[in-house]
Amino acid sequence: MENPLEKNTAVTLLGALKKQKYHLVGSHSAVKRCKWLYESIVNDRPCYKQKFYGIKSHRCVQMSPSLYYCTQQCLFCWRAQSGDLQVAWDEMKIPREDPPEEIIQGSLKAQEKILTGYKGNPKTNWRKFQEALSPKHVAISLTGEPTLYEPLGDLIQAFHQKGFTTFLVSNGTLPNKLSKLSQEPTQLYISVCAPNELVHKQVCRPQFSSAWTKLNETLSLLQSFNCPSVIRITLVKKHNMNHVDEYAKLVEKANPTYIEAKAYMHIGFSNLRLGFENMPLHSEIKDFAGKLAEKTGYKVINEAAESRVVLLSRLEKPIQVGNN
Ligand code: SF4
Ligand code: SF4
Repeated sequence: MENPLEKNTAVTLLGALKKQKYHLVGSHSAVKRCKWLYESIVNDRPCYKQKFYGIKSHRCVQMSPSLYYCTQQCLFCWRAQSGDLQVAWDEMKIPREDPPEEIIQGSLKAQEKILTGYKGNPKTNWRKFQEALSPKHVAISLTGEPTLYEPLGDLIQAFHQKGFTTFLVSNGTLPNKLSKLSQEPTQLYISVCAPNELVHKQVCRPQFSSAWTKLNETLSLLQSFNCPSVIRITLVKKHNMNHVDEYAKLVEKANPTYIEAKAYMHIGFSNLRLGFENMPLHSEIKDFAGKLAEKTGYKVINEAAESRVVLLSRLEKPIQVGNN
């Protein structure tokens, strides 16, 4: 598949992405092995989303239909951003869109390739390995802003028709695209990584001036979705961990089913922008979550120290979406 980027940009970027073990799919999608796929199959340690919501880590495909494209340049992002590697491109538009079915077939092939690497591992759990060959869940979350991919609703629908559950993660800056999705995901995540516009500009570095207003529009329409919704707050020490009151107001506006407060992890291309000292400890995430619980009335209902994440909810128990 021809790459839509300018030749020198493509060479630099593809080299860096391949080093980080991205499997490219078509011209603008990718699959990457999630650490927890490996941990689940080899060490019987599933990810926190299995713990919280019941999806199975060993049957999960981590992918994105917008590898090079996003409306933001968050400081904490593990994505290669325009400017990171002395190469630049227009990140705001996917020039030629691959059809959903091609993306799905390419993603499943890439996942199969990833899994072949486990055959030689003596610690592989063979039952899980066999199950993993028929994945059942897709995390549309790897990198980039998926709502930039115009037929996103069709992609989700095609995954559902094949028996997959889907978690979709969006930065919420394109409310029109979200409101027009032809198919809702199984669970919708909106990243809210700033309590106010100033911090949003500094930390999320939106690429257009009305992004904060648009994010707020998305929060207002979140209740119109039928699927469970999550406000995901990625917390970066010294950058966005204050102003809990203002976060609470955003939560009130959106009334999500859950809030996930999660620590920034010093990995991928974020190493070029932040240091280890910006990674909050789990105790600091718990402290933040406790304060947010007080202000919002949400309850802290679960946590995973290994991923430095705390789950808050207005439900007593999270809905289990993984029946596979
Ligand atoms: S749900 Fe997320 S963390 Fe869990 S296995 Fe899938 S991609 Fe990894
Ligand atoms: S919105 Fe997501 S993909 Fe885009 S820059 Fe921020 S973290 Fe990265």
